Parts: sequence; structure tokens; C-alpha cells
Amino acid sequence: MALLARVAVIGAGVAGLAAARELYREGHHVVVLEKRHSLGGTWLYDSRVDSDPLSLNPARAVVGTSLYQSLRTNLPRQIMGFLDYPFATRPHGDQRTFPGHEEVLWFLNEFADEFQLRELIRFCTEVVRAERAEGRNDEWVVESRSRGSESAKVVREVYDAVVVCNGHYTEPHLVEVPGIEKWRGYQIHSHNYRIPKPFTGQVVVLIGFGPSAFDISRDVATVAKEVHIATRAPNVTVGKLDNHKNIWQHEMIEFVDEDGKVVFQDGSSVHADTIFYCTGYKYHFPFIETNGFVTIDDNRVGPLYKHVFPPRLAPWLSFIGMPKQGTPFMTAELQSKWLAHVLSGKALLPTEEEMMSDIKKYYHHMEETGVPKRFTHVLPPNEIEYMNWLLAQVGMPPLKEWRGRMYRECAMLAKAKRDGYKDQWDDDYWDAVIASQVDSIVPKNLIS
Ligand code: FAD
Repeated sequence: MALLARVAVIGAGVAGLAAARELYREGHHVVVLEKRHSLGGTWLYDSRVDSDPLSLNPARAVVGTSLYQSLRTNLPRQIMGFLDYPFATRPHGDQRTFPGHEEVLWFLNEFADEFQLRELIRFCTEVVRAERAEGRNDEWVVESRSRGSESAKVVREVYDAVVVCNGHYTEPHLVEVPGIEKWRGYQIHSHNYRIPKPFTGQVVVLIGFGPSAFDISRDVATVAKEVHIATRAPNVTVGKLDNHKNIWQHEMIEFVDEDGKVVFQDGSSVHADTIFYCTGYKYHFPFIETNGFVTIDDNRVGPLYKHVFPPRLAPWLSFIGMPKQGTPFMTAELQSKWLAHVLSGKALLPTEEEMMSDIKKYYHHMEETGVPKRFTHVLPPNEIEYMNWLLAQVGMPPLKEWRGRMYRECAMLAKAKRDGYKDQWDDDYWDAVIASQVDSIVPKNLIS
């Protein structure tokens, strides 16, 4: 007989919604605690930003999204849906293959309504502490507080299991810039960027080479005098970009001076008004007390078996949505299916020792192949292998080949920094590929 658990899911972003649906489907009793007024997490745009543009003050009110106004998805919509609930176009919506962020929020709301998830969510409820009940693994005390009032009473509740879905794109990671303590210009992290207007007429130096750096450099260049991208990425062409009148690429910053000068490792220099850090984010779980059974070291959260279960506390504590890159929606969905089955006893976890040994093997492999610790939760190039492993745990067939192929193709274009690739995507070609390898599951929102 299946076991049913009382489960607290922390966060109603993609991961929390995916977890809630799978746990609820499996018959578990689910409560989703969400600190914001609505669902969607990252995809719930907010024009406000943190009070401090580098987000250094630990006491600041953290704005729960890092979206900028112009953001379009960096993955094609075909690989941003759930396995049985695709991100389909709708008659009056943004029908582009890489739609604007509003369309993703629309999709998530539709998903929540379709599966009656909204009723499971307690909005404006911030989890301030989650801790095992004294001497017990299978009992967790969760403390939460209504948001908006510091004096609100803390509510204590007991659950069998806690699922952490608090996201990992709101706590900025900064890099050290020699001389920065004397530099008098403006500094900002991309978490606090929304629109280009404040940078009108400025010379902006932007550190980073990921999707946000790419988008923001182009966005800011529409109003700035000059944009200079500084990167550690190897083999970058240094100099002005041919197809832009005011964007340059440089090697990393060597140092900055009191007078506003920024000197790059390639020997060039500029006088800048702003330094923009598009340097990523840190994992951050200020509310969980695990007594040292889960730690964060150089952005490695561990030990976590398959990025989900800390062996010592499994299955009563779990993390959904930890992996970086790959296809976050489907990854969260498949992790959640596995979690729901494990909690109900339909899928068995290995012993604590076996899980630890698997994790050590993974860390050892990373070391041997020269992969830095901070990339522990970066899935590619093994994202498909990982998702197929999760599917196997719940007795489902592996993914169709087109999903991996589409992801790799898109990642290649994004890496090549090809301007306009989102609008040059060959939809007819991909429609034909998908049609020839249709998934065995009939998507629910495509049944007429
Ligand atoms: P989040 O979306 O961050 O949700 C976490 C939720 O937890 C939030 O609602 C938050 O309010 C809540 N929460 C946090 N702490 C607490 C607490 N203590 N108590 C209660 N609630 C809490 N992915 C793609 O697939 N395609 C893209 O094109 C794409 N573009 C991106 C662009 C940017 C700029 C960023 C930052 C990310 C992008 N991503 C993209 C990744 C994106 O974050 C994931 O798609 C997905 O939104 C992650 O969902 P999540 O639920 O893990 O986290």
C-alpha cells in the first residue's frame, strides 16, 4: 500500500509547481508556502529592485525575480514545457518560439489552474525556519510568517517532509575587481537590472559572458554611449563587434583606478561610469537548519544524491530544481515524479551508504576531469542521461531524441553569441523533426 505524506513545498515557482502537481497526483497532502503575492517565481516580473544595487546588505528586502523588461526565453518553447503539458502557443498570445517573459508567466498560471494547484498555495507566506523535530527524521517543524508585517506571528506547523523549491537566481555572486574599493563609479548586479534608460549616454563595462550578459549588453547599448564586455572566457575576439556600433569585447578587467579608468588584461582601457556584474548567482537557503548535514561550499550544495536527496535526511528533506542549465521545467517535473514515488514507497532509494558512495564517485569524477566544484549542479553535457535516469526510476520510457538535439542546437547558437538567432530559428525543420518522433504521452492541453 502506498504511503501518504504531509508535505511542505517551499516556493511556488516552476520547481514548486512541478513538485506540488506530482505530490498531489500521488495522493500526498501538499501545502505550498510562497512568500510573494502570486505564483511563477522568476517569471513573476517586478519593476522594483533591491535597495542596494549590488545586493550586498544581508538585511535588504530581496526582490524575488531577476527578470529584465526585455527578456525573451533563451530556450525554444518546445523544451520549456512539461512532458505532458507543453508550452503551446495560444491564439492571442506571444506566439514566438522564444517568447517574452509574460508568456511564460501566463503558461505557468494556466498550468496551475489546469491541475488545481492554486488551492494548495498559501501566498504571502515566508518560511523563516525549517528544522527536524527533536530526534526525528520523519518530522519537520516549519515556521512561517505572513509577509508584509514584521510583527506578524510566526506559525509553527509539523510536516512529514519538506521540499525546498526556493530557486537560485536572486542571491548575486560577485567577482573581485582589483582596485574596486577606490573606484567611484556606479556598480550594479544584473539581479537589479530592469530597463536600459538609467544608462543613457554612459560608458558601461559589463562583466560576464552568459545569456544575461549577452541580452543586457545589447539592451543597454540601445541608449549607452559605449558598452565594453569583459570576460574570462577563453578565445574571445577582442575589439569592437562588427555588427554593433558601440559594443566592444575585452579580456577580463586587470584593475580599476580612482579616476574611473578600467584597464583590461588585453592592454586596452576606458573611463567608465558603470560596472555591471552579470556574474551569476549563489545557492542560498537561509531558512533551513540541517545541523550540518547539508552545506554549501563554492556553490556545491551537498551532499545531494542526484541533486535531490541529502542521504542522511532522505527522503524527508529534498531539493527540487537545483540543476543549472539544461531544461529547468522538465528537470523539475521529472525530479518531482521521482520524489513523489519515493515518498509513497513506490520507488526505493538506495541505502544512505550507497547514496554517499554514488555522490563521492560523482565528485571524484569531476575532479579527475578537471570540472570545478562550482559546476557541481551544472547538468550539461549529461542532461539527457540524467533525465532518462529519473524517468527510469518511475518506470517511464526515455525521452525522444529531438529534445536533446534541440537543446544542444540552441546552446550552440547561444554560445556562439549569434545576434538574432531567436528570430532565425528554423521552425519548419523542427516541426518536422518533432512530428517524426512524437512522444508517447498525449499532452493534456492539446486534447480538443
Ligand atoms: P524560482 O522561479 O526562483 O521560484 C522560487 C520561489 O520560491 C519564488 O516564488 C520565491 O518567492 C519562493 N521563495 C523563496 N524563498 C522562500 C521562502 N523562504 N518562503 C516562501 N517562499 C519562498 N529557464 C528557462 O527554462 N528558460 C529561460 O529562458 C530562462 N531564462 C532565465 C532568465 C533569467 C534572467 C533567470 C534568472 C533565469 C532564467 N531561467 C530560464 C531559469 C529559471 O529560473 C527557471 O526556469 C525557473 O524559473 C526556476 O524555478 P524555481 O522554482 O527553481 O525558482
